[in-house]
Amino acid sequence: MTKCPNCKKELTRPRKTWKWSQFTVQAYSCGNCATHFREYFKTGKHSFTLKRAKKSGRRFVKVHFRD
Ligand SMILES: [Zn+2]
Repeated sequence: MTKCPNCKKELTRPRKTWKWSQFTVQAYSCGNCATHFREYFKTGKHSFTLKRAKKSGRRFVKVHFRD
């Protein structure tokens, strides 16, 4: 369970999950505002979130995101 960094909608399930280096990555697509973002976890703890930048499409930017 996480929240969209853009509109704060609660999202229950990641679209995709994979391992990247020592991180576990969970990819989400917000059904409310269509924001794509990825959450990075290290040893079970949330480390940081990347949000897709709207203009460039493929680039991801780090967002500071706390409840
Ligand atoms: Zn959203």
